[in-house]
Amino acid sequence: MSTDLFAEYEGLRARVTRESAELFEHYAAHLQCRRGCYYCCDDIAVLPIEFEALRRAVSETGIPTAAGSGGPPETDRRRCGFLGPEGECTVYAARPVICRSHGLPLAYRLYEYDEQGRQISGTRFMDSWCDLNFTHLDDESAGAYFDRHGRINQALVNETLEELNRRFLASPAGRQYRGRDWIRLSELVGDRC
Ligand code: SF4
Repeated sequence: MSTDLFAEYEGLRARVTRESAELFEHYAAHLQCRRGCYYCCDDIAVLPIEFEALRRAVSETGIPTAAGSGGPPETDRRRCGFLGPEGECTVYAARPVICRSHGLPLAYRLYEYDEQGRQISGTRFMDSWCDLNFTHLDDESAGAYFDRHGRINQALVNETLEELNRRFLASPAGRQYRGRDWIRLSELVGDRC
């Protein structure tokens, strides 16, 4: 990965962290988010550029010894490979972009299809939110509530990530990932998952 591209990726990660911090503060009265809550930590997959960024981060320190437990024993879903036994994120400082807004309301773009059946970017959005946090909302009321109070524009974040990923794949450092799309973080942890 070129240094410039890596710096741009880190800039995006920092921006999402900043925007999320403002929303965490705004929504503080509703949030159950805390260290050890792993409700959002499914076995997530990321684009190659993010996979490579995390691979580089853990190659300096080694895979954390607490990673790969799949979370506390009562876990009933396949969880992220970097979840520790107490429901903690073992790569918190280097966690991917999507992990920085876990628990907050996110607006995703609804995809549409053209006459040839090809997927195109639509003009409508769909909200996603944590139902442990926003227990007073339902599908009817959420849109207007988040219009008033704010959400992360995940559509824009994803479009920026996709553009960075396209450039990464075209670079010499991205060659090993060509032909790959989404990659589960658990691949980095390997047999310990
Ligand atoms: S990287 Fe950390 S925050 Fe992200 S899903 Fe995995 S355990 Fe959760």
